[in-house]
Amino acid sequence: MLGGTLREAAAALRRGQVTPTELCQKCLSFIRETSFLNAYITVTEEAALKQAAEADKRFSRGQPLGLLDGIPVAVKDNFSTKGVETTCASRMLKGYIPPYNATVVQKLYDQGVVLMGKTNLDEFAMGSGSTDSIFGPVKNPWSYSKSYQERRAVGCDISDEESDWVITGGSSGGSAAAVSAGTCYVAIGSDTGGSTRNPACHCGVVGLKPTYGLVSRHGLIPLVNSMDVPGIITRCVDDAATVLGVLAGHDSQDSTTVQDPFEPFKLPEEIDMSKLCIGIPKEYHAPGLSTEILSLWSKAADMFEDAGAKIVEVSLPHTPYSIVCYHVLCTSEVASNMARFDGLEYGHRSEVDDSTEAMYAATRREGFNDVVRGRILSGNFFLLKQNYERYFLKAQKVRRLIANDFVKVFGSGVHMLLTPTTLGDAANYLEFIQEDNRTRSAQEDVFTQCANMAGLPAITVPASLSSRGLPLGLQFIGQSFCEQQLLTVAKWFEKKMDFSSLALPRNIEKSSVPWQHSKSVSSL
Ligand code: GLN
Repeated sequence: MLGGTLREAAAALRRGQVTPTELCQKCLSFIRETSFLNAYITVTEEAALKQAAEADKRFSRGQPLGLLDGIPVAVKDNFSTKGVETTCASRMLKGYIPPYNATVVQKLYDQGVVLMGKTNLDEFAMGSGSTDSIFGPVKNPWSYSKSYQERRAVGCDISDEESDWVITGGSSGGSAAAVSAGTCYVAIGSDTGGSTRNPACHCGVVGLKPTYGLVSRHGLIPLVNSMDVPGIITRCVDDAATVLGVLAGHDSQDSTTVQDPFEPFKLPEEIDMSKLCIGIPKEYHAPGLSTEILSLWSKAADMFEDAGAKIVEVSLPHTPYSIVCYHVLCTSEVASNMARFDGLEYGHRSEVDDSTEAMYAATRREGFNDVVRGRILSGNFFLLKQNYERYFLKAQKVRRLIANDFVKVFGSGVHMLLTPTTLGDAANYLEFIQEDNRTRSAQEDVFTQCANMAGLPAITVPASLSSRGLPLGLQFIGQSFCEQQLLTVAKWFEKKMDFSSLALPRNIEKSSVPWQHSKSVSSL
């Protein structure tokens, strides 16, 4: 019997019930069976089998094992992977093979993982649907679950085949789909405004955004340097804690990582609820919040209260400014970050060679999609000498106010916040793409991006299914570097909601993946 979680798989490997190669082959066959999801940009089959064979030797010879030895993982395609193409889902970087590993990738390798491949995303991680990729959109595995198909058949009049699936959320949609579909046990995402938590929530898996500075960004191709954090996507909270233990800590290559050593932790089974105070931010009753999420949210608050925790309403008064503030800061940093893509050093280079300037311009026009170009344009506007103070500096001040809101709330004895992760369940693809990328991001990131602006840790935990049969989750936002407390409470909540028994049976030999319930899946 193989486990559905990292912990169970690691135990099965150690007991000798399965070898790393067998586990790798199982995941490869899942990847093949679910290739229609478009979760992977690159599947590193050959290298994965080699890594698994190496792990086989370590196990059979009784050599020292890494914490994640033999565990299949996937990495978002905006992390540098030595010798493995890294595209950011953009024409600009297609064919780019980095000469080095991102620190998080190296740390995973150091613990013996087997890299299954690189996952799909919105171009340069700009988006919240995983629909804006040159490799095509990622499909949510739940689109093929029995619960979704049956309910759709009853209540839905959409007959067009193309529209018969829902988005994963984004921008780490490939990573979330990869874990949800059982093709790996851990996937690394990135989180700048919610890109790990949003797709994890829509795909019914756990998504952790660590405190800014706890996990190295070295080798993560930057979107917004002051907000980017590598994210962790797993099937349960315990697994997220294990992976955080592997990834966290100072890195001399990233000066924004903290100096203090990180103590990996195991999460307790029980907690003393009487000592816990959870805040419910009133501003998060945002327009567009679905009634299902609202009732899940209040049910969760009641559950904590019944268990003895204190639930208080809190105010984060600057929340309404976050969308605009994020837009100014994000695009300004994007404009400066993207300046490096000029056709000279790596990536795409236009054939136009009338002059250096013409080559630059043509390279960027051909290499970037209109979302990226639009953000560069906005950012350069905000950074113009005459606009700098009015927009960029002002946004920085607003960012400080947003962060201070959290400081005040946490200073008043509140340990963490309980909020929705998303406004509703995952949107249907055709409906989602009716809006432009900017409007969609503004809607999708409303509950997630404040944590990025304040640098706080946050985690989404799957909790139930919507009336359409799609996953719903809730988010916990914690205090800086209080991941242990945050994850402990998240684990308690996860156990109470018992989403995995509802949807992701733990035994991947049987049917741990939602799409396996679908009769039609084999014909896809
Ligand atoms: N949706 C947000 C954006 O498009 C967040 C992206 C992210 O977290 N990478 O910028």
